[in-house]
Amino acid sequence: MTDTVRVRFAPSPTGFLHIGGARTALFNWLYARHRGGTFILRIEDTDRTRSTDEYIGAIIEGMKWLGLDWDEGPLRQTDRFDVYRSYVARLVEEGRAYYCYCSPEELEARRQEALSHGKTPKYDGRCRHLKEPVAGRTPAVRFLMPQEGHTVVDDMIRGKVEFENAQLDDLIILRSDGTPTYNLTVVVDDVDMKITHVIRGDDHLNNTPKQMQLYKAFGYPLPRFAHLPMILGADKTRLSKRHGATSVMAYQEMGYLPEALINYLVRLGWSYGDQEVFTREELVKYFSFENVGKAAAVFNPEKLIWLNQQYIMASTPEGLAKLVLPFLVKDGVIPEGEALDMGWLASAVRTLQERAKTLVDLARSLRYYIVEDVAFDPKAKEKFLNEKGLLLLADLKAALGTLTGFSHAELEGVFRAIVEKHGVKLGALAQPVRVAMTGGTESPGIFEVLEVLGKEKALRRLEKAVLAIQEGAQGKES
Ligand code: GLU
Repeated sequence: MTDTVRVRFAPSPTGFLHIGGARTALFNWLYARHRGGTFILRIEDTDRTRSTDEYIGAIIEGMKWLGLDWDEGPLRQTDRFDVYRSYVARLVEEGRAYYCYCSPEELEARRQEALSHGKTPKYDGRCRHLKEPVAGRTPAVRFLMPQEGHTVVDDMIRGKVEFENAQLDDLIILRSDGTPTYNLTVVVDDVDMKITHVIRGDDHLNNTPKQMQLYKAFGYPLPRFAHLPMILGADKTRLSKRHGATSVMAYQEMGYLPEALINYLVRLGWSYGDQEVFTREELVKYFSFENVGKAAAVFNPEKLIWLNQQYIMASTPEGLAKLVLPFLVKDGVIPEGEALDMGWLASAVRTLQERAKTLVDLARSLRYYIVEDVAFDPKAKEKFLNEKGLLLLADLKAALGTLTGFSHAELEGVFRAIVEKHGVKLGALAQPVRVAMTGGTESPGIFEVLEVLGKEKALRRLEKAVLAIQEGAQGKES
């Protein structure tokens, strides 16, 4: 039997792709891939005042960056108004929907009246049985909602959630200006696109019983539902800008790897034993709604950064070199369009990837390998580029100048000879050299740094450090 799972991610393009939306997209994508089904991207842009093409582009950019490829779409609801109107006409013909001539002012007055009596406002159904149109008014169309019994949402995550039909309003499905409303367009599209599973945020749970009545009215077998628990910030309120970056592309800019963000997002609600780090193939293989928890998930930036570090450590230096290149260009370390030896960049990356938490970090650390001149950190300079270091550095410069190779072993041999000669520890030589090479006191092993820099650059930097010490000494004398 062929698997017929069809799911959709249905963002409203009224903002960038944010963490919550990306997780919804991811769970849909994973479920589709796990079941060998179809993943559809549907743009719900019927709110024309708030939807923009720029946001559609941004959502698509975010999905592509995360590697969430879709099989159908992107479909836009604004291209489908005729379809919605024909579905509405069908409901009216079948007596499942009716024209409502109440004006917005009348509805508002009744709403206020209900509120002033402490009642939940609800449409009173007065146009349900109208036989004749009301002259001079353009009607809206309302769906005739059953008022008896219950509607039970059988959710794959939350189990059975029951709603009393008496609480359900006769929904407006087509406004008097001819535009369809959210609950209608969602259901029509799900029916038309033969959606089998509706996977979305649990802020939509209250819409589900109303939508279920619409699926039934269209004679469509109910899809399965999975309402994903909310994502909260550390203070247990709904995740928002107050908690830091929420747009997915902001994480790209901050130097996160898409795989790390995917791994993080999936763990916002889903678990698989104690395992924390997953390949994409593992996620596709293991994903199921049985392992999605009901409780809201708390967004933890430290955990995300930890994961990012894990992914950076596990990446190949060659792959990281490609990823970090745009950051180096952005930082002005490499002029745009300048050819760089990528094999060499990978060798530099290899020395740093154990320490970098983000690509931004990595680019910052790579700087001293690439630029011609490093600036000395004033404290480091004072502590290590002084007269004590002068003889050591001058000796090292002379010895390195005679080397024909520049390998780790050769460098180590030279260092050993010099520390022996001066009767000092290795660190007494390594630290001034480190400042000379990188400008600061923290770097990978000094032999690795020298090897990556190469003989010419290393000698130029030693020369500069020696000069700086001599100038400093003269300054003191005069
Ligand atoms: N367009 C809705 C939203 O962005 C999603 C509707 C749905 O998934 O059914 O929240």
